[in-house]
Amino acid sequence: MQRDDAISTLNAHEGPWDFVIIGGGATGLGCGIEAAARGYNTLLLEMHDFAKATSSRSTKLVHGGVRYLEQGNVSLVLEALKERGLLQQNAPHLVHNLAFVVPNYDWWEGPYYGIGMKVYDMLAGRQGFGRSKHLNKSETLEHLPTIDPDGLRGGIVYYDGQFDDARLAVNMAQTFVEQGGTALNYMKVTDLKKSDQGVVTGVEAECQETGSQYSIDAKAVINATGIFTDSIRKMDDPNANTTLRPSQGTHLVLDRSFLPGDAAIMIPKTDDGRVLFAIPWNDRVVVGTTDEEVEGPELEPRPMPEEIDFLLEHAGRYLTKDPTVDDVLSVFAGIRPLVTDPGSPSGGDTSEISREHVLHISKNGLVTISGGKWTTYRKMAQDTIDQAATLADLEEQPSVTKNLHIHGWHEHPEQFGTFEQYGSDAPELRQLIRERPELEEQLDERLPIRAVQVIWAVRHEMARTVEDVLSRRTRSLLLDAQAAIDIAPRVAQLMADEKGHDEAWQDQQVDAFREVAEGYVLSPASA
Ligand SMILES: Cc1cc2nc3c(=O)[nH]c(=O)nc-3n(C[C@H](O)[C@H](O)[C@H](O)COP(=O)(O)OP(=O)(O)OC[C@H]3O[C@@H](n4cnc5c(N)ncnc54)[C@H](O)[C@@H]3O)c2cc1C
Repeated sequence: MQRDDAISTLNAHEGPWDFVIIGGGATGLGCGIEAAARGYNTLLLEMHDFAKATSSRSTKLVHGGVRYLEQGNVSLVLEALKERGLLQQNAPHLVHNLAFVVPNYDWWEGPYYGIGMKVYDMLAGRQGFGRSKHLNKSETLEHLPTIDPDGLRGGIVYYDGQFDDARLAVNMAQTFVEQGGTALNYMKVTDLKKSDQGVVTGVEAECQETGSQYSIDAKAVINATGIFTDSIRKMDDPNANTTLRPSQGTHLVLDRSFLPGDAAIMIPKTDDGRVLFAIPWNDRVVVGTTDEEVEGPELEPRPMPEEIDFLLEHAGRYLTKDPTVDDVLSVFAGIRPLVTDPGSPSGGDTSEISREHVLHISKNGLVTISGGKWTTYRKMAQDTIDQAATLADLEEQPSVTKNLHIHGWHEHPEQFGTFEQYGSDAPELRQLIRERPELEEQLDERLPIRAVQVIWAVRHEMARTVEDVLSRRTRSLLLDAQAAIDIAPRVAQLMADEKGHDEAWQDQQVDAFREVAEGYVLSPASA
């Protein structure tokens, strides 16, 4: 997956593309794979990096959503559980089974949540990740050695999926390219092209690296821009109503000593009625999330002090060791793409808005897909391409993505140890180390990143900036933000050596990364 090759393909392309997809998050990449795998000629344009926005900032669960079950939304849970099973089947190098324990402190919690989890098991059917069961107090403490034992009666264990969101997005971009698609990051859609009758016929785009302008024709344009959905809809119709109800969720990352067992904690109802998780992830613990209404879409949303207070306080309530500001290795925020149907009047607060996806085709033919969640991206994409192919008058082709492996698929990725997440690419990383043993160097003892991963990201994963490498090709920024800042100059140097960039490029990259990364470092002053 090379950006230069994609630019050449774009320049050489004659006539309209079958589809141009705007947005390189879970939804856009899913649509890209869905379309390319059916044989449609597809171009995907992402204005920043793949998964820069919401898709790298999730809780990292591939789940049915126990919470929606309580709300009685069985069809949503059923669909998500089906997709959960497919995702584990198609990307086993990135999706893992994880035990979640709901600790019970009140007498009624055991039976109440126990029944809910049994229903969850039943809905998952043969694609279940494991049977839920009641735990007594000592079994609960075995799974969660640091859960507060005071007043603990027992718990319920159930199973769900966990994944690396940004790495899945990158592997999805590679899958899309392998299926014949053309993917470009750092290519912003600035306007829509229209026929004399006002029908959408393509996009105007600007390369964010060179400033070059592109005028691109398409039989159908798909708007998969998540929290930016309304900005594209307003290019189609300046009077289009606002559908996004942005709600921010923040996560804290702590070291593993806060939750050393084999299971995650799930608190079904916090003071504000939210689900709270503490999840082991990449040898860290991720605690989240919150639900705060925010003004509008932000590519780099900043956590609010009250969110941090809420998370620290609630984590402290359930853990024997109370985390403080000084214990936070990284803090990250994301904005949920919660939308109302463009066809209906907007209203309601974010918790009332459907978590299901909304597919809308404007009178000018702009296809907009929004809402939903990471877990259900494939189904969202299937629905979208079914509709868009009809709109574009393309020959009907059946979906093949249920059984399509994501790039990196391997039957036994665990055999690759440090490079497990690279799946079938892992032997090639090892080969690179054999050729250049210095690439085995771990860049900092606080982080699991090795020099070879930087080279790999540049050569094969379309990483263009230091931030791409430290935030999304590796998760260094989330695992330890200060350590990531400290190794940025070394990463810039490795990238520059590989691509022939000069020192000015390195300095600019390090400065740009530091500016972003400082928002992930929680100093006492910012809390
Ligand atoms: C706090 C939080 C926790 C979550 N946890 C989970 C979870 O555990 N499991 C789960 O299944 N789901 C979870 N979700 C939901 C999930 O993350 C989102 O539903 C999903 O990532 C949305 O993907 P998307 O592609 O629609 O949007 P995005 O990822 O935001 O992608 C849209 C892309 O469009 C690009 N774009 C915008 N304008 C333009 C333009 N003009 N030209 C080109 N590109 C453009 C943006 O740069 C962006 O990359 C969570 C969400 C949040 C906020």
